[in-house]
Amino acid sequence: MKHTHINLIALTALLSACTPASETADTLTAAVPAPVINSDYSSFAQQEKAQEIINRAIDAAGGMDALGALTSGKMTFSARAARIGQAATPQANGDLGDPSKTVAQHANGLVAIDRFNGDNLGSRYVHGGLVDWIFFVGQNSVADVEPVLAGGIINQAQTSAHILLAMSAASEDARYAGLANNQEAVSFVNNLGQMQTAFFDKNSGQLDSVQSLAAHAQWGDIAITRKFSNYKAVNGVQVAHMMTTQQADITASVVTLESYEAVSVSEDIFEKPKDATVNDPFTASTPSARNLTIEDLGGGLYYIANAAQGYNVIFADHDDGILVLETPQSIQASRDVIRTIKAKFPSKTIKAAVPTHHHFDHSGGIYGYLEAGIPILTTPGNVDFATKIGTTARNIGISKGAIKSPKVNSFDGRTTLGSGAAAVELINVGPNPHADEIVIAYMPAIKSVFVADIFSKRGDTLPPANANQLGFADKLEKLDLDIETFIPVHGTNATADEFWDSVTRGRAAAAE
Ligand SMILES: [Zn+2]
Repeated sequence: MKHTHINLIALTALLSACTPASETADTLTAAVPAPVINSDYSSFAQQEKAQEIINRAIDAAGGMDALGALTSGKMTFSARAARIGQAATPQANGDLGDPSKTVAQHANGLVAIDRFNGDNLGSRYVHGGLVDWIFFVGQNSVADVEPVLAGGIINQAQTSAHILLAMSAASEDARYAGLANNQEAVSFVNNLGQMQTAFFDKNSGQLDSVQSLAAHAQWGDIAITRKFSNYKAVNGVQVAHMMTTQQADITASVVTLESYEAVSVSEDIFEKPKDATVNDPFTASTPSARNLTIEDLGGGLYYIANAAQGYNVIFADHDDGILVLETPQSIQASRDVIRTIKAKFPSKTIKAAVPTHHHFDHSGGIYGYLEAGIPILTTPGNVDFATKIGTTARNIGISKGAIKSPKVNSFDGRTTLGSGAAAVELINVGPNPHADEIVIAYMPAIKSVFVADIFSKRGDTLPPANANQLGFADKLEKLDLDIETFIPVHGTNATADEFWDSVTRGRAAAAE
């Protein structure tokens, strides 16, 4: 692989060679002003300056030939990552957890990224083939993934050397973006089609960081910055051995490169496992609309399985409007639910949407209701959080602007909405180890309770109840509810017998 310095004069000559024959050239000259290519702001000048900075960074790293030799090989990372948006309260950022092992193996433009739980392989993500896929080892299943959704996984396996190679390969689209804080900035489009800005130390030429912008469901417009430090030589190439990612102002991950071996990689690891079952593709956060199916639970209660992929929603048809239970994942998921409900009940308004708790995957849909003028009904500790989701600036992504006065209401403890067969009692069953405030929806007419995270059912059998489920069970024993069916946000329904059996086993295990 070779990098070339784009020569402005050669490019001008190339362009003039493409000019139409002289009889039409006169007409064109009269109609279209001649392009200005010598201004500091011309694309040519910006590309040329960007190319100089990229070339200098490649030289500072050890040169293109040495960098190219690192395109195949095996890297081991130790990563600590914060579970952002999953703390007990919406204000806490979450600590960087224990280190976990990631191995990235590159060959022929393909990469396999293995994530480990302790010493056991947890999942393998393969990028760069015709279809990206992820293999979940414990579940022995494969899901197809859109590369843009797996950006976080791929980015973690990209060293400073890979960034420089990607910039070199796409340098015709690179543009100089200015000088600030003694760093030269160059914008480029990476191999996932994401617009990024790379920052280079003005003195050494070395890559310092890469930044991209993202539309965050809760926080609105955010910058994601990946900083490269602790440069050390690997086979003659200076490679950053520490990569720190900031999302907005929060440290999301700290990744250490533990080893980088320029070894040949077996092609077998890029093959899809043949004996795996096939999962639904990851669609939860895609900005495209999905078709949803409503299931009638009777008496004015309705269920939407996978309203967002992996997240069920319930709604109740009351005289004064429709009540939606749970606001999962994304603004688009809320738009899908609203559109689906309005198609079935064109003359009714949606009176409120109730998030079960503040965690990012259960509150990512809040903005979708607020933008439609639908009030959010939540517990007191989440009012400021939900209001902030409504008022934060949004100039990128699928929602533009901000809402002047988002409607956010709260209830304390318990409240019943609607009456008769469609009545729904909202109950805050927090504090729970999972979240300080977490709402369940009790539907007495069908002797059912709708519950997120502190009880889920995936697969045919329930494991012994964990601390979150035991906390929920303790709370349920103090409530006067007649429950035959547990309807989880995640997974399929469970009978009361199944639930209490798992609690009995969980309590026995906890007592040991
Ligand atoms: Zn949760």
